[in-house]
Amino acid sequence: MKKNNLIIISIILIMLLTSCTSGLDNKEMVRTEFLMDTIVEITIYGSEDELIMDKVYNRLFQLENIMSKTKKDSDIYKINKNSERPIRVQEETYQVLKEAVDISKRTEGKFDPTIGPLVNLWNINDSEEGRNWIPKGIDIDNAKKLVDFNNIEFLENKEIRLKEKDMELDLGGIVKGFAVDEIVKILKEENIKSAMIDLGGDLYAYGEKPDGSPWNIGIQNPDIELRDYMGILSVKNKSIVTSGNYERFFEIDGEIYHHIIDPNTGYPSNNELLSVTVVSDKGIEGDSYSTAFYILGVQESLEIIEGIDGVDGILIDKDKKVFVTSGIKEDFQLRDKKGEFTIID
Ligand code: ADP
Ligand code: MG
Repeated sequence: MKKNNLIIISIILIMLLTSCTSGLDNKEMVRTEFLMDTIVEITIYGSEDELIMDKVYNRLFQLENIMSKTKKDSDIYKINKNSERPIRVQEETYQVLKEAVDISKRTEGKFDPTIGPLVNLWNINDSEEGRNWIPKGIDIDNAKKLVDFNNIEFLENKEIRLKEKDMELDLGGIVKGFAVDEIVKILKEENIKSAMIDLGGDLYAYGEKPDGSPWNIGIQNPDIELRDYMGILSVKNKSIVTSGNYERFFEIDGEIYHHIIDPNTGYPSNNELLSVTVVSDKGIEGDSYSTAFYILGVQESLEIIEGIDGVDGILIDKDKKVFVTSGIKEDFQLRDKKGEFTIID
């Protein structure tokens, strides 16, 4: 199978599952844009006020401008180009970085916002079709030495400093989650009761469906070629984020190289997991924890999840065993047509 592009099939599945509305108030607005390197789709029910959509998307563009790695005016660009020098950043950047470091500490450093040098080296998000090279060992070793969240310095007056030359931040594993939470804030301010937020597969099921029932979210079958879901999760007011190897990757000699990199090995993570779905109150937790859990593997992830409030997960391993944590056991149902998956108790 060739490298998949950014059109993520799961999004379509999810929307099919959730878009059947009924009831009296059938007003509905949908807006789709390509930003933050992915497809963003917001559906708001019970209102046709396009100004609300404008507000939501303006906020997203603003966050992208502040935290993109490639936009020259962004905080992250400035920090990366000036390592060892303190850079004054926006409140949002400071907050996301603080939260990122917090998640790093809770995940044994598997989530690391200073993963930049390794991400650049592997360059998986921009890999071309037919790619047949991987980085040299020496380059991986050198990049690996620059990855350490402990070397982000939080100074007074919202200044950030990277302690080592050539260190680089990459917030690709957390900023979409933060953006989801910012959208939720706006929808609350605007008194919206029902909405579906989708930032390239980072979902937030806002409120309940217009008919008052919970949202039904299709959990992607990790065998992406099937373009199907393997189970259904019923939720209200939850962030649902999946990390897997099937969205951005390339293949050489049967080995898959995907875009989640283990800071300890310097290579794309490789363990028994096929995918991790994190179900949480906050998008920022879902986005970052799903990345970390995907690297940590089943047992360690389950232990961490059971120790944090408001965070649950659905983990699928290579034997198609499905681990569902206690907080959502009742809300998840297998729906795999071939009967390949087993829920492990
Ligand atoms: P997606 O962007 O497809 O939703 P993830 O949320 O799992 O995927 O995040 C993957 C992105 O996070 C990568 O593209 C990269 O920018 C960044 N990243 C990769 N490895 C790590 C890591 N170990 N810690 C933090 N961020 C990472
Ligand atoms: Mg993510």
